[in-house]
Amino acid sequence: MAEREREAMSASLSRLLRTLSSASMSRRHCPLALLQPIPLHQSEMALGSASSGGSAERCCSSCSDDSNNNERCKSAERGTAAEEVGEEEGVELESKQDADEGEQDELELKRDSSTVNVNVVRANFKCNDMECSLVLGDYVNGFLGSFLSKGLKTNQLVVNTDEKTLRPVARLKEPRDLFALPKDKDNDCSQQAPRWPVECQVIEERIIHIPYVPAVPEPLNAPTGNELKPRPVGEENGIVVFSYSPISAVNYFSRSAVGGARFMTNCHPMNPEEYDGLEFESRFESGNLAKAVQITPTYYELYLRPDLYTSRSKQWFYFRVRRTRRKMLYRFSIVNLVKSDSLYNDGMQPVMYSTLGAKEKSEGWRRCGDNICYYRNDDESASNSANEDDEDNSTYTLTFTIEFEHDDDTVFFAHSYPYTYSDLQDYLMEIQRHPVKSKFCKLRLLCRTLAGNNVYYLTVTAPSSNEENMRRKKSIVVSARVHPSETPASWMMKGLMDFITGDTTVAKRLRHKFIFKLVPMLNPDGVIVGNTRNSLTGKDLNRQYRTVIRETYPSIWYTKAMIRRLIEECGVAMYCDMHAHSRKHNIFIYGCENKRNPEKKLTEQVFPLMLHKNSADRFSFESCKFKIQRSKEGTGRIVVWMLGITNSYTIEASFGGSSLGSRKGTHFNTQDYEHMGRAFCETLLDYCDENPNKVKRHAKLFKQIKKIRKREKREQKALKLQKMADQGCIMNDKLKVKRSVEKSVS
Ligand SMILES: [Zn+2]
Repeated sequence: MAEREREAMSASLSRLLRTLSSASMSRRHCPLALLQPIPLHQSEMALGSASSGGSAERCCSSCSDDSNNNERCKSAERGTAAEEVGEEEGVELESKQDADEGEQDELELKRDSSTVNVNVVRANFKCNDMECSLVLGDYVNGFLGSFLSKGLKTNQLVVNTDEKTLRPVARLKEPRDLFALPKDKDNDCSQQAPRWPVECQVIEERIIHIPYVPAVPEPLNAPTGNELKPRPVGEENGIVVFSYSPISAVNYFSRSAVGGARFMTNCHPMNPEEYDGLEFESRFESGNLAKAVQITPTYYELYLRPDLYTSRSKQWFYFRVRRTRRKMLYRFSIVNLVKSDSLYNDGMQPVMYSTLGAKEKSEGWRRCGDNICYYRNDDESASNSANEDDEDNSTYTLTFTIEFEHDDDTVFFAHSYPYTYSDLQDYLMEIQRHPVKSKFCKLRLLCRTLAGNNVYYLTVTAPSSNEENMRRKKSIVVSARVHPSETPASWMMKGLMDFITGDTTVAKRLRHKFIFKLVPMLNPDGVIVGNTRNSLTGKDLNRQYRTVIRETYPSIWYTKAMIRRLIEECGVAMYCDMHAHSRKHNIFIYGCENKRNPEKKLTEQVFPLMLHKNSADRFSFESCKFKIQRSKEGTGRIVVWMLGITNSYTIEASFGGSSLGSRKGTHFNTQDYEHMGRAFCETLLDYCDENPNKVKRHAKLFKQIKKIRKREKREQKALKLQKMADQGCIMNDKLKVKRSVEKSVS
């Protein structure tokens, strides 16, 4: 049978199963209604239309692209309460009372469910105008029955038709650990290899860097103002020595596979015998470099790849160079950046990793580069007169010089300390395997991304046999890496996870008090391919919290569903989404002001002020903002605030460094970001402490905030008056001039 027919039949079967189930059982409790058989080709996960408007064409997972099917599917989805499916999915297994019990069931299933024939009854239906006779499962018996009677919910079950017998065969999609990630290392639970869009090329070797923290904080670079600003000369005036852009036939995401493209092309056009310059490479996880042009033996113009399936967003770079020569001064210019301003003009340096340095001196990522300058490529005067926010079509260059310490070294450069999807998986698996941590941490899958990568979430809370105790716990939701390039967010999240799973008294108290729901990587697809801001839809996921369509923005949809459910079940005490900032130093928070609610007014600012007091040389309360801007309405922070969560925040860590206290004028490193994650937890306990002394302190802080804001208002008013007065003066002056001119003429 042709593959398409098989798929169509499998889709029809799944619809039929759903219709039957919705007819025979009440909607909400029908276990079949909770299954979403996805008729995917097993080796490659296909998504017919994941373009920006994709969801409109493809309304549910069992639906092909034709519009008739869409209509049918829409009604089928309605009939099976699809919304409820999603709300429940992924969150069911960790329901507080039966978490442990659930896990046992899952493991059992894993062992004996590779392929299971369903005990069947015959049914007739039509598929693609073919009369079909199929045998259907009596789903109260057999594997499927036991699976369903246990009330487990998954979208991992795939019902296919056996070619010879025409019998439906139910089996679990690979990897089968979607609904349980076993703790045991040897239990065939190897982490999922990253899935790439099929047009992306990936070198075989996995890039691994050693952890490293410099002995003393690295100083920010001091710009002299005399840095060279070489104008890009283009490839016509040089030699292209590296060129790689993944090209798909359609300009949207269509399919993914482990390891990406099947064939590698030659991205190094120069004959290695004739060319003795640097060798560039970016075809690895989170890598981004599209082209390198050698202008002189030591000067290279570099081009970044925009985010996949869009021409926007070019900021993140991460690439490798080989065949270095020591005692030579090289210059790199990244010439196609799009942001109008950058901390590179304010002392920030990129980061560099020398493989020989790591080997010989155990040195890891360090800040690097001299004569750094960030500037607009076309006319300077135009740039001065242009509106700063106006990012029109201008491109910008980041230029810097570099001297390598070794001959023939392999050196990496990046915009900030990389933290890949595989790094996260390694970390999470370690927690899973840890004999103590795994007792109060449950790792689950929130959903799969468009490319089929796992979006994990970690539940951290002290287990309790007392149901009443569990019910009293509120939850804290923290997420990160919705923007792929913002790696400092991952380091903060790592610091937070390290601390909250650690054995300090504060961590223990926090685990007793709260249920932590951590979503450490909301956009793994973007992280894998080395995007700056977007997902594979070509859209910024942090603008999709309002109009979420499950199929197109799964990680956002499921995060929001999880938050909604937590609000209903136990309440959410705080929500925080972690980001990084490329134009401001320090770490700070964006919150949502409650100015119309007199009871809550300014309360959202207490936690950020406490964070500042606890981490005064990194966190700036002054830089915090609490305005709700229209342009930010679709962000997680604002949408979650609108769900009624007062403490709904975005935390922004600078890619650069600090301008505060003892750390003034120094770069941040990974330890600083991790420290912030830890400070977040410590402050949280402080903030929620009901000890009378602490409560008194809160009241004091609250007064302080009131004072600060009042003073600000006064200052603003004075500034405004001053401005008006100045303008008045100017007008007076002009008037005087005019009069004198008139006088002289007459
Ligand atoms: Zn961001």
